[in-house]
Amino acid sequence: MEMKSGLSTQCVHSGEIHDSEGSPHTPIYNSTTFAFPSTKALLDVVEGRKQGNLYTRYGLNPTIKSLEVKLAAIEHAESAIAFCSGMAAEAALFLAYARKGVVCLGDAYGGTLEFLESHLRSLNIPVHFLLGRELEKLTPLLKQGIDIVFFETPTNPVLEIFDIKEISDISHRYNTLVCVDNTFATPVNQNPLLLGADIVVHSATKYLGGHSDITAGALMGSKKILEPVLPWRKNLGQMIAPEVASLLLRSIRSLVLRVKQQNETAMAVALKLSKHPKVKKVYYPGLENFPYNTLAKEQMKGFGGMLTIELHQDTKKTVEFVDKIKLFKIAPSLGGAESLVTQPVTTTHHGLTVAELERRGITGSMVRFSIGFEDAEDLIADLEQAFL
Ligand code: PLP
Repeated sequence: MEMKSGLSTQCVHSGEIHDSEGSPHTPIYNSTTFAFPSTKALLDVVEGRKQGNLYTRYGLNPTIKSLEVKLAAIEHAESAIAFCSGMAAEAALFLAYARKGVVCLGDAYGGTLEFLESHLRSLNIPVHFLLGRELEKLTPLLKQGIDIVFFETPTNPVLEIFDIKEISDISHRYNTLVCVDNTFATPVNQNPLLLGADIVVHSATKYLGGHSDITAGALMGSKKILEPVLPWRKNLGQMIAPEVASLLLRSIRSLVLRVKQQNETAMAVALKLSKHPKVKKVYYPGLENFPYNTLAKEQMKGFGGMLTIELHQDTKKTVEFVDKIKLFKIAPSLGGAESLVTQPVTTTHHGLTVAELERRGITGSMVRFSIGFEDAEDLIADLEQAFL
């Protein structure tokens, strides 16, 4: 399919294999290995003279390849590689590229922070963490030599927005790659590669999967940039299972419908909560009075399904509020059909010191919501009863 079609069309049609039985979409090829008519034919694939299926852990499997074509298309990338989780994708990327150093901007997912802080540093790879308000420190670090600048935008849980174009322009002056974790925004709302980033990473466990029932990940970018990651994925054994790849293909077909609805519902909930007397602050990029609203409007097409509030009450009372909520489920994660609620201090940022929480602006009065597919009125009514 031509890349010129719109995102909804890409989501439905890109990469799909139509087999001889007439299947309208890619079948599951669950084979771990693929047979050849001769040794010569096998060697042609093994030695790279011909493309073909070979061994599923290598990614040389039709269902996985079909998924990768779709993943690339939806992020406007030349190519994509699928993984068994978002962390697998990030780990393979950092192991392939991080040598001189990595800069992580803003708040990132806890697993990312742990990987960078514990694992990469234990390999003697310098890792620098900068908050959004410390961006003036980026250029001096780039001058020292940095392989990758990594960030999420919007961030978790305070939905801070980073200027993808500006950070990419600065980083490219020093030949540094820029990787954006687009999990929160999704390609429906934001296209980092079109804004200058080199690599996009997804926890496909979230919106791309969309139903809280698969764990998967992906990297999208040019063939040249992703090529060095392939041997790491292969030898770390991080391959997505064909059955999961098939579920992810199915989920992406409805990505635009789901995310647009989640954008709309999140906006309705954010607007309602912003007027509630018990709510001190609503963190949602779509609100006019949100500090990053102008930048969000410039680089995003929708504001996503994630929002965070801060209450006028202490941690204990905030826990009571969360425990009274009925329709939202108390769980980490995001992007599924069912709305979820968490307190960052009990999940994503659990275990951080008081000083570190303060530095990141995270309080015990914060509550994060992942908006699902329910009716906005029902979600609002649920929160209102929990406030009583
Ligand atoms: N990136 C973000 C923004 C996440 O929220 C997560 C998980 O919550 C990850 C990456 C890691 O993804 P996974 O759990 O699929 O390994």
